[in-house]
Amino acid sequence: MKAVQYQQVGSSPVVVEVPKPEPGPGQVLLKVTAAGMCHSDIGVMSWPADKLPFELPLTLGHEGVGTVAGLGAGVRGVSEGESVAVYGPWGCGVCRNCAQGKENYCTRAGELGIRPPGLGAPGAMAEYMLVDDVRHLIPLDGLDPTQAAPLTDAGLTPYHAIKRSMPKLVGGSTAVVIGAGGLGHLAVQILRATTGARVIALDVADDKLELARAVGAHDVARSDEAAPARIRQLTGGLGADVVLDFVGIAPTVKIAAQSVAIEGDITIVGIAGAPLPVGFGLLPHEVSVAAPYWGSRAELIEVLDLARSGALRAHVETFGLDETPQVYERFHAGEITGRAVIVP
Ligand code: NAD
Ligand code: ZN
Repeated sequence: MKAVQYQQVGSSPVVVEVPKPEPGPGQVLLKVTAAGMCHSDIGVMSWPADKLPFELPLTLGHEGVGTVAGLGAGVRGVSEGESVAVYGPWGCGVCRNCAQGKENYCTRAGELGIRPPGLGAPGAMAEYMLVDDVRHLIPLDGLDPTQAAPLTDAGLTPYHAIKRSMPKLVGGSTAVVIGAGGLGHLAVQILRATTGARVIALDVADDKLELARAVGAHDVARSDEAAPARIRQLTGGLGADVVLDFVGIAPTVKIAAQSVAIEGDITIVGIAGAPLPVGFGLLPHEVSVAAPYWGSRAELIEVLDLARSGALRAHVETFGLDETPQVYERFHAGEITGRAVIVP
């Protein structure tokens, strides 16, 4: 079968022929129907060898949707032909976090060598993929695969990030979304669908700001040094109750620090890793800062339910598997609006 692999540190991904996998005991084989392209893939492919926590070659794709095409011994709960979304942040299934469905925070995944598909285990950018356990599959129940694929990360991650701040997102509150890309344009919709907040989106690209407005942002502005003053102006001087940073570089965490209200939340989702100084007098009083990772199994079910209700619609551009290397280049150059989805 064909697969898109990252083969060597510093090289571009390539389409290769690999053996079609066979499901072992407990495993499910999926015929992939859609795979989303995430900026984290670009992040991972920019890491030096000593930072890469897994071996190469790696089949990419951690946003996967497919049709059940084979069941390993002992698998119950899904049947062949069923359309399912893959919950990506696989954990051990038994630690205290996994027991609550928070496999993204599994305490034993590292020690047991459990890695998400596309981020260590073979991913969804292939004709077939293996899923280690049936509990990582969520029935699509009528959702379009190209819609559902981005929701497994670009939807789930902002959903989880927003949920932590729910008590602050009351009527009259303000939420700022920095970076209206794959995750950000879904964050805007999740905020509109689940909170009473006024939503301000920031980006450096006009097409991304246009998309943010089209999907429900009340205000949009350029992400530059004038942005904090604009946010203060739009909030009567108070600042934003919640700032979600989907970039995480020095200029954006600075905007977050300068825009947040007293007792507000700053949530850094982008993985660029720029530091944000926290301490008395460094931020408005009682600001809480978090850098979450992905989301829980239950939250993915909630996100798919939200999409089925019509409240969430990923803006997607679809491509064939053979085009994937060029699509990564376009994505890297900022030429994708919304999410690129590969249809093998
Ligand atoms: P994307 O490329 O689709 O979107 C990023 C957006 O940020 C683009 O619209 C881009 O124009 C905009 N941008 C770039 N520089 C900016 C700036 N200075 N100010 C404002 N906007 C700016 O990327 P994505 O797939 O949505 O991922 C966003 C980030 O989230 C990446 O860092 C990714 O690695 C990370 N991520 C984190 C998690 C997690 O669990 N924490 C999960 C998925 C993705
Ligand atoms: Zn991702």
